[in-house]
Order: sequence, then C-alpha cells, then structure tokens
Amino acid sequence: MKKGLTILLALVLFSCQENKEQLNLTQGLHISNITLISTEDGNYTPYIGHLVVEKDKIVYIDKNEPSISGTFEQIDGTGKFIIPGLIDSHVHVIPGVQGMLPHHMEKYPELAKEFNNQMPRSYLYYGFTTLINLGGISEERIASFNMQPLKPDLYHIGYSGAAVANGYPMNFTPKEYRFDSEPNFIYMESEAENIPDKYDPANHTPKAVVKRIKNSGAIAVKSYYEPGFGRLSNLPVPTRGIMKELLNEAHSNGLVLTVHANSLEAHSFLTDIGVDILSHGLWNWGKYKDVPKDSLPLEIKKMLDLQIQKRMGYTPTLTVIEGEEALVDNEFLNQPALKKIVPENLLEWYKTEEAQWFAKEIFSEQTVEETHTIYGNVQAQAMLVLKYLSDNNGLLLFGSDTPSAPTYGNQPGHNGYWELKLMKEAGVPLHKILSSATINNAKAFQLDSLLGSLAIGKKANIIMMTKNPLKDIEAYDAIEKIVIGGQAIERKDLEIKE
Ligand SMILES: [Zn+2]
Repeated sequence: MKKGLTILLALVLFSCQENKEQLNLTQGLHISNITLISTEDGNYTPYIGHLVVEKDKIVYIDKNEPSISGTFEQIDGTGKFIIPGLIDSHVHVIPGVQGMLPHHMEKYPELAKEFNNQMPRSYLYYGFTTLINLGGISEERIASFNMQPLKPDLYHIGYSGAAVANGYPMNFTPKEYRFDSEPNFIYMESEAENIPDKYDPANHTPKAVVKRIKNSGAIAVKSYYEPGFGRLSNLPVPTRGIMKELLNEAHSNGLVLTVHANSLEAHSFLTDIGVDILSHGLWNWGKYKDVPKDSLPLEIKKMLDLQIQKRMGYTPTLTVIEGEEALVDNEFLNQPALKKIVPENLLEWYKTEEAQWFAKEIFSEQTVEETHTIYGNVQAQAMLVLKYLSDNNGLLLFGSDTPSAPTYGNQPGHNGYWELKLMKEAGVPLHKILSSATINNAKAFQLDSLLGSLAIGKKANIIMMTKNPLKDIEAYDAIEKIVIGGQAIERKDLEIKE
C-alpha cells in the first residue's frame, strides 16, 4: 500500500516536471511574471508569462514557467510590461551635431565629441533598439557608430541615396563637391550639361546604382521626389521611367525602395507607381493648402485610398514640422527631459545667439506668431492625412526623421518619443502606434525574421515598462530596462552622467 502511494506520487511529480520545459542556459536572462505585449499581425492579446533569452536570442516565451538551470539573470516582471525594441525607420546618424554646421563643430570639438558619445545611448534611453539610417553614410561612420559600447542596431541605405543628378538633396552641396558626396546619383539626359565629364553615365543608371547600394550592405534604396520648397524650386525630379526602374532593380536585389516625398505632387506620382515606402507624411497639400483644416479634399482621399490598396508604407514624420517650429519656442530647451539626453554644455550652447543661426535663416521674414500659424496649419493637414490612413487600415511605419534639418529641435530618442505622442494626438490608436514602431517596420524593411516581435528565435531587443503602452502613451517614457542583444541595461544608466 505504502509502496503503491510512493509510485503514484513519483508519477505525479514526474508528469508535472515533464510539462515544464527544461532550459539549460550559459548566458541567460529570465523575465518572469510579466505582461507580454507583442503581435505578428497587428492584433494584441497581452498575457502574463515568462520570456527567456540565451545569449542574444529569445529561446522561450510562454504562460508557464520553465525550469531553468545554468547561468542566467532573473528579472521579476510582476506588474510590468514588455514589448519588442522599437524601430525608428527614418533617422540620420550623421557624424555631426544637431543644430550645428561644420564650422561650429570645428570651433567646439568637445561639444561634438560629447554629443556623439551620448547619441546612441539617447536612442536606447527612449527604447529605440533599431535605427534605419535613410541618408548616405560612409563606411567609417558605420564603423565608428558600431564601436560604441551601448548602441542600437544600425541599418542603412548605402553611401548615398539614389538622387537624380542636381536634384534634392544634392543641390544643397556646392557644385564642386556634390557628385563626389553622392556617389549613387542617377544620370539624367536632361542634366547632361550639368554633370562633370569624369562621371560615366553607365555607372549611374538605376541598375548600376542599385547594385552598388546592395553591395554596400544596405537594406533599402532611398530615392527622392522633391520639386523644391522655400527658396529652392524647379529642382530636377526623377522621371516615371527612372522611378519604375529603381523599384524593379531594388526588388530584384532583394531591397525595398523608400522615397522622400511630402507634397501632393510627389505622393501622387509615387502612389501611381506603387513604390514600397513613402519616407514622409503628406503635409504639403499644394493647391489645397488653404482648404479648411478639418476636411480632406476628394483628390487626396482618392490617392490615399490607392496607397492603402497598394499596401504602401507611410511614414508620418510629424516631428519634421515640430522640430523646426521648436526654434521659435522659448520653452523648448528648458524641458527637464532634455537634460537627461543632451550634454549640459551643448544645451547651454543651444541657448546662445550663435546657435540661433538656422532660426534666423528660415524665419527671418516672419514673426513668431506667423510661424506658429503656418506650421500649425501644415501639421493639422499632416495629422488629418495620418488619421485617415489609420482609420482605413493604411500601413503606418514609425519614423521620426531625426534630425530632419540642422535644428536642435530634433534630439536623438527624445524626438522619437515626441513623434509617438504626435501620432496619438493625430488620433492613431495606441495599438497601431506600437505596431508601426515594431512589426510593421520590421516587415516593411524585411527584418521580421530577426526583429519586430517577441518570438522564439528573434533577437533579444526588448523594452520593459512600468506602464501599459496599449493604455497610456506615457509608457514610452516609463521605461525601466532596455534589453539590447540580450544585455539588460537600466534606463537610468543611459542618462547623461553629471
Ligand atoms: Zn530624412
């Protein structure tokens, strides 16, 4: 009788243990009893469970607690939330400093150094574990970024975008340097007279350019449709033939095509072709710019419907507008949050007369009041478009365009958090904001086998929060820990050291 009971007990214990998965870790991390928030398709069903990491990969995720042996760190997640690391699919990790021109950086090399040491940490501080650099980047720059001990994963579009000769953004650079600084420019017959003879047209066809971009380790091709703004106008733009060829070449090289566009003309042109991603929102409504702020013209609606139907990615980049307007806002630099991610000396420099050079350049002919009115109207239109896409199942991709211009208004990480808040303000529901910055970006840039959700086999880039991001936008500023490649970092350790 007694023997029988022992056998029965042993059987019960054995079968219980059999249900528990056995994990033997060498360099592990176990986050227990936490609310897991992740999706593969945009629908969220959060639950309390366990997530286990070995080295830099997620190896277990389930409601049931696994049985773990070996070497691992334990984090009690009771009452807390985890999401996949955030992906910002439109940044510029330039070797420069927000708000500075090259001559400022030469004059203040210490400020530049302090900024560049902190910059990758500031992105992590706000939960951005993956950055997609949408401007040209040199091999040296990629290497120096990756040398930093704590940094987000960096993806890029090659040593330059595929801009048409003398078009945007080449036209910003003086003629004598612009072709060397944009090695992937596209030759256009109409610009033949304005291209130095040393450049062989055969090396600047869409086919040759995309091949070069692919070989540089890029994940996407960036092009531009920008007829001009402000003092720049009538810039050369790509023909339909060029844009279609860029799209085909990108696809046959396994890349996606993302295109700079923010006007109705540009969005219409690119929607008709059906490029993969629009790297900006539609805020320049052209002939409709003076229509009431609360109504979407039929022509724009129809075009957006086509973007939705073609599953084109739409990157709102609302902080482009806010980051410029910030230059006339006396309170911007006094936000306590900036002290944590902008070096103190640089913050002080931003408050000097010398640092107002860009504000003077773009706002010299208007009052502060006028600036707020103009930017307010543009933003209202950008938000209306975003709301329409959000309400009608458009494909939203999170991107902050940090920095979009030489403004100190777009600070690393901080600007991304601002962008998230602006999406909310535009009326995008919280679950769509979260998927735009995780799974949508991962899928659109073909990184979803590695990133974008909490799933076995994916990279352990994870954000732990004390608030629920499906209920509260402030959750993105209530981050407690950042896990990057399996390494758990306390958020406060990423702040500027006093
Ligand atoms: Zn940009």
